[in-house]
Amino acid sequence: MKNYYMDNAATTPLSKEALEAMMPYLTDEFGNASTIYMPGQRAKSAIENSRRTIASTIGAKPSEIYFTSGGSESDNWALVGAFEHARPALREKGLPGHIITDKIEHHAILNTCRYLEAQGVEVTYLDVDAYGNVDPAAVMASIRKDTFLVSIMTANNEVGTVEPIKEIGEALRKHETETGQKILFHTDAVQAFGHIELDVSELNVDLMSSSAHKLNGPKGVGFLYIRRDITLPGFIHGGAQERGRRAGTENVPAIAGFARAAEIACGSLGIRKIRETEVRDHLIERLLTEIPGARLNGDRASRLPNNVNVCFPGTDGETLLLLLNERQIYASAGSACASGSLEPSHVLMAMGLSKDDARASLRLTISHDTSIEDTDYVADTLKELVTRIKKI
Ligand SMILES: *Cc1c(COP(=O)(O)O)cnc(C)c1O
Repeated sequence: MKNYYMDNAATTPLSKEALEAMMPYLTDEFGNASTIYMPGQRAKSAIENSRRTIASTIGAKPSEIYFTSGGSESDNWALVGAFEHARPALREKGLPGHIITDKIEHHAILNTCRYLEAQGVEVTYLDVDAYGNVDPAAVMASIRKDTFLVSIMTANNEVGTVEPIKEIGEALRKHETETGQKILFHTDAVQAFGHIELDVSELNVDLMSSSAHKLNGPKGVGFLYIRRDITLPGFIHGGAQERGRRAGTENVPAIAGFARAAEIACGSLGIRKIRETEVRDHLIERLLTEIPGARLNGDRASRLPNNVNVCFPGTDGETLLLLLNERQIYASAGSACASGSLEPSHVLMAMGLSKDDARASLRLTISHDTSIEDTDYVADTLKELVTRIKKI
């Protein structure tokens, strides 16, 4: 029976090409990259080739890419590392230290901020507008003399809103030139990498997080981009891997699979974006025009090409998910991490939705091979189910 996997923001299937790139390192090429004999050196070159491939997709230097265990680790490292980096100067001045972020970040950011708050750091969680946009002027207006980090996601995982990273990066650069205050700029690009064009120089970011399993790579691998002039302390302490900043025997198969997935996603970005946008807009159009009361969540224009998030007032997202499951349609209500709990999505709440409307929202995230016909089946099914739920 055909499946309609509409939850690509939660994770994506591993591509055949990525699996092929991994196979040698899961089998014969098992060497430890820290050894000097041939099998070890072949593992080492696989890692370094992967680093070069990935660096080139975001306009970075290979030495600025650090492999991690995924998006959550990269986010933790960026925030905790930035604090440790700033701590000596803060201590000297007797200041607590201050981070600027926003209310719709992934929990990997929000809960790391909570952890840092327990260490005495103060955090500003910026509001977003009704479409999930962070205002660059609000970022700048929140700067204090002990602000050491701004962390704003490139694109939101629930509603797909693409944030004005370039504008914030430019404003922070200008602030540095005018005042001499260097504030590190981090972006969680987990949903954006491989889906929209990213160039670290153009965006003026110092730190960027990414994860392979959101772009048809394997789970459990990601990278943190660290601009070369930043001496961010290491995060996992131990051996000398990743230039002494991230210890642990490298996950060579995962790294090789990640690089292959990134190469494919970034190499076909232009064409995929056009196709996905067309399919996305077809689905949005059908849902909004054919289901009475349906409203789009997130920004209509500044939006990831794969994201559809719609509120069907008077329904319940969890119930919809269960009924969709019976029709082989797999979607999400709120974020995957939040489902199972009854709390309405923090993202939708921050955008000003009522609790009921937040609970009545559904996220459908397509892939490059979702067809118009697939979305027609989804739209037809939802039309029927929403009407049925409203009658109960
Ligand atoms: C999925 C996701 C993460 C977490 O990445 P993992 O590799 O699953 O740890 C972080 N941030 C965003 C925006 C995500 O979508």
